[in-house]
Amino acid sequence: MEALFFIIGACFGSFFNVCRYRLPRKKSIASPPSHCPQCKHPIKWYDNIPIVSYCLLRGKCRYCHKKIPLSYLIIELISAGVFLITFLKFGMSVKLPVYLAFFSLLIIGSAIDAEIEIIPDAITIPGIILGLATSFLTIGIFSSLLGGAVGAGIVMAFAGLGKLLFKKEAMGGGDVKLLAMIGCFMGWADALWVLFLASFIGLIFGILLRKQKIRFGPFLSMASFIIIIAGSPSRFLL
Ligand SMILES: [Zn+2]
Repeated sequence: MEALFFIIGACFGSFFNVCRYRLPRKKSIASPPSHCPQCKHPIKWYDNIPIVSYCLLRGKCRYCHKKIPLSYLIIELISAGVFLITFLKFGMSVKLPVYLAFFSLLIIGSAIDAEIEIIPDAITIPGIILGLATSFLTIGIFSSLLGGAVGAGIVMAFAGLGKLLFKKEAMGGGDVKLLAMIGCFMGWADALWVLFLASFIGLIFGILLRKQKIRFGPFLSMASFIIIIAGSPSRFLL
């Protein structure tokens, strides 16, 4: 069963790669079938096996021999790992599909954010609706609504403060909707923990990579995953 979820995750990862390439470019995710973004050659099924094909082709297109970005492999590996760990945490419960859907949206959103510095509404708006709609299986509708409001509010407050203090945009509208979505799935307290943990991880990465500007979406996503899997830090306070 564990292996199955790893494989399903890898296959979804392959689909997330299609989404993250096509969504911001306003292309259909259903058609045309997979093709090399450089030479447009259609990709045969045996070259489209998640993780395996990338390794067999040594990260190059079979036809034009241009490099396939390493990020494609990384997304497939992350997706496989996330699906496996989420299954180990929740087992065959009603919460499993809810959190798999949540993490899937986070993976696609983060990949797009890391690449072109936006988090599309096509990810966050359906995510907010899904978080509210499935809340009766997880945290309850009241917590979900409050979580969305607090999530959006706190980022807007931070963004306003950042503008006032540093005269530059630290967080954008995409981050507001992303944390609103996270709040809808996790509630207000955990949304604040996510923001706190993401800032901490982001700070460390910023120092290690000596980067002035880092995208916040991937860190918010990473923090959400850690807190859902490891459990809410709030329990240590009560
Ligand atoms: Zn090619």
